[in-house]
Amino acid sequence: MTLLFALDIPAVPIVGRPEQFPVNRIYCVGRNYAAHAREMGANPERESPFFFSKPANAIAQNGAALPYPQRTRDLHHEVELVVALAGDALAARGECLSLAEALAAVFGYGVGIDFTRRDLQAEAKDKARPWDTAKGFDDSAPMTALTPVAKAGDLSDAHITLHVNGELRQEGHISDLIWNIPELVAELSTYYRLRPGDLIFTGTPAGVAAVVPGDVLEGRVDGLETLKISIGPALRS
Ligand code: MN
Repeated sequence: MTLLFALDIPAVPIVGRPEQFPVNRIYCVGRNYAAHAREMGANPERESPFFFSKPANAIAQNGAALPYPQRTRDLHHEVELVVALAGDALAARGECLSLAEALAAVFGYGVGIDFTRRDLQAEAKDKARPWDTAKGFDDSAPMTALTPVAKAGDLSDAHITLHVNGELRQEGHISDLIWNIPELVAELSTYYRLRPGDLIFTGTPAGVAAVVPGDVLEGRVDGLETLKISIGPALRS
């Protein structure tokens, strides 16, 4: 097969390996920490988390200076644990996975930020419109290299934080996830055929807030690489 033109495959580095991890799809989980659900005006006792997605080429690399995006005046950070999926079993099937199959499909973990144009999201919620312009824009998914499962150790009670200009903004524990990692992979597999290369942004703890040009953001999860990015000047708007 000959393609009319070449397309780049989005990819992220892997800690301790020369290969890069090719990104297929990016799935995201909404309101997977009770404290964040409450800060967004929802009741986590009555509503389950839910899924949305970003395009694979929304990935941005660790260390990048990201331009402040167009069409927003309220760009918010959401630090998140990122789960990367791979493996032969997933390649063969991928639908309706058991909890054991879901856990076996996890290749590794990274730290990411689900950047959100909160003003566009608020308008979409108000008008019952899709979230794509609020969530799926260029550079909206910066993330670290992936740490393979065996090197990451047990993340079940890891601390997750985001600092902006050295000041703590977001904080939580992976044990606070409403849907834990195997549960959310299994739940997602009831909606989609999961493939090697899929990433899942697992939801954000409380403390989401706006960033401005010049801000430096550092996202951490115990045992994983630290994400460090900065916000550059605004694109034309
Ligand atoms: Mn999020």
